[in-house]
This record gives sequence, structure tokens and C-alpha cells, in this order.
Amino acid sequence: MGLHVRGVVLPDDEIRDLWLVGDRVSLEPVPGAVTVTDRGFILPGLVDAHCHIGIRPGGAPIERIDEARALAAIDRDAGVLAIRDAGSPYPYPELDDDPDVPRLARAGRHVAPVRRYLRDIGVEVEAPDLARTIKEQAAAGNGWVKLVGDWIDRDSGDLAPAWDLDAMAAAVAAAHEAGARVASHLFAEDSVAAMVRAGVDSVEHGTGLSTEDIDEMSRRGTALVPTMVNVATFGGIAARAEDKFPGYAAHMRRLSDRFPAVVAAAHEAGVPIYVGSDAGGGIEHGQAAEEMLLLHEKAGMSTEDVLRAASWGARAWLGFPGLVDGGLADLVVYDADPRADLFIVRTPSHVVLRGRVVR
Ligand SMILES: [Zn+2]
Repeated sequence: MGLHVRGVVLPDDEIRDLWLVGDRVSLEPVPGAVTVTDRGFILPGLVDAHCHIGIRPGGAPIERIDEARALAAIDRDAGVLAIRDAGSPYPYPELDDDPDVPRLARAGRHVAPVRRYLRDIGVEVEAPDLARTIKEQAAAGNGWVKLVGDWIDRDSGDLAPAWDLDAMAAAVAAAHEAGARVASHLFAEDSVAAMVRAGVDSVEHGTGLSTEDIDEMSRRGTALVPTMVNVATFGGIAARAEDKFPGYAAHMRRLSDRFPAVVAAAHEAGVPIYVGSDAGGGIEHGQAAEEMLLLHEKAGMSTEDVLRAASWGARAWLGFPGLVDGGLADLVVYDADPRADLFIVRTPSHVVLRGRVVR
């Protein structure tokens, strides 16, 4: 028993037949395979490269693993078949092989500064404990750590680096020594400049990037996961902070205003950009398509570049093979060509995860 799909396979742009046996792709015909579709445009499963399935809507940690499953199912049914979980307060290594859950590239818990970050979400540490904690969280994840590089400092009334910059650079080195890649939350200018040069593997958000930082990322191959869906909420954050922290509010508005141009410049400079929605907490799950549309409409990325950022490019970056012989049987099908009209990514006609039709 197996499945069969036929259609225009992207990115190669060829009409092809694929057979799915177990959770793998075969290019050899499988007798008796059931045809799922024989028309449409077939993409390797989408990736949400910045997502939190361990945080409830509203911001509290989940308390049962079924909650993570249910949140992941919202993304999955929208075509997201691999998730980079960018920090979870709840451990769920058993979901790595769960047949109902998208493939997971996981950080452990957020590593965050003491009493400055979102409540109950991160492991909060002072600078002397930072490198040791990063190693512990590298062991808790499956290849990534999440470092909160900056946040509001209520004493100065503005964004500020989470720890002193040397301690943060040492933490990046400690993560690499432990074999993990580093995803770093960075809103502000000084922190992102330092962390790019400290060698983080991905800048999350990156609203404070300068032209020089972008050139440095391009040289190093550092990825950018802009989460434009998240940055669109900066206006609301600023409005709520206005009375107590007017300087912070003004800073957040400036960062948000310049952001489309920052993402466009990074893309033009050859920085690898990936689709991340930052779902979990304040942002609903199932928004990868909206992030794709923002990258196209606001940052001027071509539809093909957006599809690469959401599908085959992101899969290669995270180590999830696509629709090649022996690749992973994760695919999404659209009735129309998403290169011609990107809006179709909101409505996949079929979603197949691990060789099983889920939609
Ligand atoms: Zn996040």
C-alpha cells in the first residue's frame, strides 16, 4: 500500500509522479498505490521556522502535551509540515516522532535575563550562569538553542541587551561547542550588531539591523527570520507602553516603520530569509501564509523567493529532505500556481504528512 500524487512539482517545475511509501518518497511506481491527486502544484511541505507550540494563546505555558499537539495541528492543516520551535517552557521530545505532528527542529527553553522577559516562559539566568545554561538547553532541544538577546530594560525605559555583550558572545560559542545552532531574539540595533558578529546562526526579528550588519550576515551566511506578522504588532505594544515607557514606545515604532526596507535590503544582499510566524502566545497558529504574503507585499520578495523561504529552502536549512527519491513524504498541493498568485497558499487542496493525507 502506498499513495500516489501527480502534478507540477516545485521548484523543478516539472509534471511528475511521486509515490509515497511509509513516510518516504519513491520515484518508482508502487503497484496498488492510491492516487491522492493527479493535478495541481506540489510543494515540499511548508516550514514555520519560528513557532511556539509550547505556549498557549495568551502567553501561558501549556500544561499537557495534548495542547502542543492541538496547536501544531492548526499549523499542519495549513500546510506547515516542519516547525522550528523557537523555545518552549514545556519539554516534549516525544513529539519528534509523533505521526500527527509536523517534523520538529526544537530549541529547549528560551534562555532569558532575570525578571525582564515574558513571565514563566524562559530559564532566567545572570551572566555568570549563561554559558552553562545554554549547554543544558542545547541538550534539551534537538539541535537549536534560543537566546533572548534583548528586551525592555525598565530602569532605562528602552530596549537593552539581555546581558553584557561579551557574556552573550561566550554563550554563542558554548552552544556551538555543544553542537547546537543558536537562534537569537533581537529587536534593537546594538544587540543585533554584536550577536551577528558573535556568530549566531539565525537572527529572529532583526528589526535593528544596519546595512553593515546585513553585509556581515551575507558574508557569514547568517539566516534572518523576520517574523513580519509579529513586527506588525509593535504598534500595539508601543501604545500599551506609551504612558510608562515613552522612549521604548517611540523606539518600537521606529523599528517597525523601517522594517520592510530592512528585510528587502537583507534579501537583496543575499541573506537567507525564512518564513516564521512567531505563533504561540500573542500570535495565532496557522499564519505562515500571512507571513509569506507580507514578505512578498511589504519586503518585495518575488513569489518564487517566498516559496523557497517557506518550503524547499527552509527544509534544506533545517535538514528535512524534500521530494526526492528517499526524501520525506511531506507535501502540500495547490489547485493553482502559487508563483502566479501567492494568495493560493492560504488554501491548500491537499496536505500529506509522513505519507498520510491530513487534509
Ligand atoms: Zn518567538
